[in-house]
Amino acid sequence: MAQILKSAPFHNVVVIGSGAGGGTAVHTLTKLGVNVLLLEAGGPLNPAKDFKEHLMPWQVPHRGAGEDGRFYFGGMKDGFSAAPNGYWEIAGEPYTVAPGNKFDWFRSRILGGRTNHYGRISLRFADYDFKPYSTDGLGTDWPISYEDLAPWYDKAEAFIGVHGTREGIRSAPDGIYQPPPAFRVHETLIQRAGAKLGLPVVAARKAMITKAHNGRAACHYCGHCGRGRLTASAYSSSQLQIFPALKTGRLKIVQHAMVRELIRGTDGRVAEISYVDKTTRQEKRVRCRAVVLAASACESARILLNSNGLANSSGVVGRNLTDTVGLTVSGHVPALEGLMRYDTDGIRGSHVYVPWWLYDRKNEFPRGYYIKLGGTGFAAPQVG
Ligand SMILES: Cc1cc2nc3c(=O)[nH]c(=O)nc-3n(C[C@H](O)[C@H](O)[C@H](O)COP(=O)(O)OP(=O)(O)OC[C@H]3O[C@@H](n4cnc5c(N)ncnc54)[C@H](O)[C@@H]3O)c2cc1C
Ligand code: SF4
Repeated sequence: MAQILKSAPFHNVVVIGSGAGGGTAVHTLTKLGVNVLLLEAGGPLNPAKDFKEHLMPWQVPHRGAGEDGRFYFGGMKDGFSAAPNGYWEIAGEPYTVAPGNKFDWFRSRILGGRTNHYGRISLRFADYDFKPYSTDGLGTDWPISYEDLAPWYDKAEAFIGVHGTREGIRSAPDGIYQPPPAFRVHETLIQRAGAKLGLPVVAARKAMITKAHNGRAACHYCGHCGRGRLTASAYSSSQLQIFPALKTGRLKIVQHAMVRELIRGTDGRVAEISYVDKTTRQEKRVRCRAVVLAASACESARILLNSNGLANSSGVVGRNLTDTVGLTVSGHVPALEGLMRYDTDGIRGSHVYVPWWLYDRKNEFPRGYYIKLGGTGFAAPQVG
């Protein structure tokens, strides 16, 4: 067990990770007047350089590849921008899975984590998601209900800015929305076809602003959401939370700091954090009064498991991981054959979706389906 190093620098609060969770903690605490040290395993983010505003892959020297010559998530579409810095495999961070299992672990290593390039789909859990056992006898009820969380959904949506429409559908509780972008031609056709089948096709709900909001300009439909824009029209913790927190003067950031262990003092509370400085490969320590562990679900579990039983009295840390499963089906719409090219500009991805549907049926495949729709007309496909 590691010993406390009293000579290590002291910080009131240390936040580990700068994604959705860490960014929110940093922003809230610094606004409250608290001094915070942020330890982030990835490198810094410079939107002016890294976002490659409105450039196409062939307009940058490294063409479609990432800046180190590798192709990242999504291949050329995302790889040519350094900003997303998301990978299925990270040099120096190998992982294994149990024999017979397959799990591809997507991770980001940059200020802002995955929020720099995630899909921005912003949905609320339904009332029955909090009480699954009471609803259909499967799973475990949460100790909180939808009503407990609803005010916090309101607060988050009002801050990040989400577009969508209020539909009164139980599986997709309504939130606070800006107007959604207009449906594209194929999306209108899908909605009409859905109506015939009793399939609810409604406006997507995404953290992209269609009207100016808190000093941010409205989306200009360039479709490059996967790597960010200087206008910050799509939510990212880097642009909306960490940069503003830096301006308070109360935030210090250490980049390339890979936390490996949380070390407890004699009172059993975390008193020190050990991390590896990836630039020198040296172990470093910081002491703290409080720590916020927000290094993403799997990595936070790994750090806890490295920390001598910390927060694991239940023994379930790192177990029972469930990923989203799904399948892709594609088709061709004869009604659009032979038409003139039409405009498919808009936000990245679809402007419509199908909220959980057939969620209350009783059969051997409970909870029904959620459908993400995609498509394009005959114009050039979007580059994200
Ligand atoms: C391609 C893609 C699309 C997605 N689309 C959606 C969507 O549309 N809607 C939705 O709700 N969710 C979506 N998600 C999921 C969403 O991005 C995550 O749920 C969310 O970002 C999690 O936030 P987080 O703060 O827990 O972790 P992250 O955003 O991953 O941030 C974790 C941060 O911690 C850092 N870190 C990790 N380990 C250490 C360590 N040991 N020491 C120090 N720092 C460390 C990382 O570098 C990273 O910056 C998507 C994810 C991906 C990959
Ligand atoms: S389309 Fe995406 S990247 Fe372009 S301005 Fe809108 S939200 Fe930003």
